[in-house]
Parts: sequence; C-alpha cells; structure tokens
Amino acid sequence: MAKRKKLKLKKNARKAILYIIIFTFLSVFLVNKYKEYRYHQTNEYKLISINYTLKEANKIEKELTKKQVKEVIEKQKKDSVLLSLINEKYFLKKNLDKYKEYYKSNTETSFTDIVAIINVGAQEEWYYKTKNADISKKELMLVNKFHLLKEDYDPGEIVKLEGKYSYGEVSANKVTHDAFVKMADAARKDDISLLATSGFRTYERQDEIYREIRNVNGKIYADGFAARAGASEHETGYAIDVFTYSATTDNFEGTDAYKWLDAHAQDYGFILRYPKEKKYLTGYTPESWHFRYIGVETAKKVKSLGITYDEYYAYFIE
Ligand SMILES: [Zn+2]
Repeated sequence: MAKRKKLKLKKNARKAILYIIIFTFLSVFLVNKYKEYRYHQTNEYKLISINYTLKEANKIEKELTKKQVKEVIEKQKKDSVLLSLINEKYFLKKNLDKYKEYYKSNTETSFTDIVAIINVGAQEEWYYKTKNADISKKELMLVNKFHLLKEDYDPGEIVKLEGKYSYGEVSANKVTHDAFVKMADAARKDDISLLATSGFRTYERQDEIYREIRNVNGKIYADGFAARAGASEHETGYAIDVFTYSATTDNFEGTDAYKWLDAHAQDYGFILRYPKEKKYLTGYTPESWHFRYIGVETAKKVKSLGITYDEYYAYFIE
C-alpha cells in the first residue's frame, strides 16, 4: 500500500515538473513574441525596414519631431538628403521643410551652407520679410537686414569716448564704451593703438547716411554697402568701428592692430561682425573694422565656433 502511494506521488511530481517546464517554455515564447510584436510597432523597426541603418534610425528619431519621423516612414524610401541635413551641426528641425525646398533649386550648394542660409533667413532678399529686433536680448540682440530696430529705440545711456580712444566724436552705450576702453588700454600695453572712428548713431543719422550713398550710387550699391535706418548695428550702441593710426578701410586688415583684435577682441566681449566671404549670410561686404559687443562669454563662444553672429543667434538664442 505505502509503496503504491509512493509511486503515485512520484508520478504526480514528474507530471508537475513537466507542466512547469511546458509552462515556462510557453511563457518565454509568448513574451518573446510579444516583445517582437512591440518592436515591430516602433519607429526604429519601421525605419530599418526601409533600409536605414540602426544608427541612422536613431539619429532620425533624435533630431526630428514625432510628426516628422512619421512622414519619413510614410515615404517608404530612404531619404539621403534628409540624412545629410540632420548630420549638419546647426540643423534645426523647425527648418527641415525649408532646407529641402531650398535644396531642390540649389543642389550645388553644400548642406552646411543650406542650413546656415535658411537658419539666418538669407534665402529671402534683404529687407524682405523683416521683423522687429528683439531688444529685450540687450547686448545679444540681433540687428541686421531682417531684424530691424524701430525709430523710437532707446539705446540707454550713451557715453562719449575720450580723445585718446577715438578719432572725432565717437560714443557708445555704457557697457560697450567701458569694454572698449579696457580693450584699448590692454592693446596699448602691447604697443597697439585702437581708435574708435564710429560708434552709436541715431536712426535719423543712419537714414541720412543711407540716403547719401543711395543718391550717389543707387539702391543696389547702397543696400550692399550700408544699412537702411533700423538695420544698422550702430544704432544699438553696441557697435564700434575700430581703426589705428594711418589705416584706412582698404588696409586695416593688414595692420598689427587688426591682428591684435583677431587674437584678443573676444576677451573683452567684442567680435568681428562682418567677416570675409560671409556676405551671403550677414548681408554686408566684409568690414575688418566693425566690432560688436556681445559680452565676454558669448564673444568667446562665437569666436571658437568660427561662425557669424547671425548663425549663432539663429541656433543658440532665437
Ligand atoms: Zn561699422
């Protein structure tokens, strides 16, 4: 009797173990199936199934909005232009459609340039589609041919530079004035003289300058060379044209003063605002003498990135 009971127990135990094993296998199988099903619902899987690599799929998900990712998937075709664009350092997802639109008629333009042009809005003609400059940004405000100051802009306290720092009557707002004096004093210790020849201008004065140039040379020349009222950084109080003795606009770039500024201006909060070969972004022919105060921290950043302030503003501030 006891023996038979024992046998039965043994049999039941074996059965139970078998059930447990079957149950475990089944569970693992179902869980895996479920995981697979879930993975097939992900954008990553959907992107990979239209031939994007895992790395590309992850980049697309990281750089684009959910809606944009959905649109990429709906195309059911790998988009190499999209990949080039999202790999650009200053890619902004809000501009994706504009980049692509621009690329269609400018296939020779590099993707770096396409991103830069669209970010700063330079695909439009100067003074077309303008907006008010955001003056609440203070020393970081962007004023150019798309971001205009209003006629009643208040530049705050305007301070005249002492004779040893300027040629003629030149003034700037307080913070720019003080930074320039500090910079000019430091330059003097290196036997470099920095002289401000132009600083703050009123809206009315800028208007006069522009009209004079336009009346003599015509609108196209005037717009390429000078700024219409409201579009000059000189109206902000944060810009200074810097020269040295016996230098003109033609040879300033070759002077030791320019070299000194190129090496040190950012340490005092100034940047060269209209660099060479960037007119298509800044709207201005190169001006090796035009420096803009944006504060030490930002000036160092802009300098180290090697981009125009228009680009910096579009990507990091706006
Ligand atoms: Zn200037």
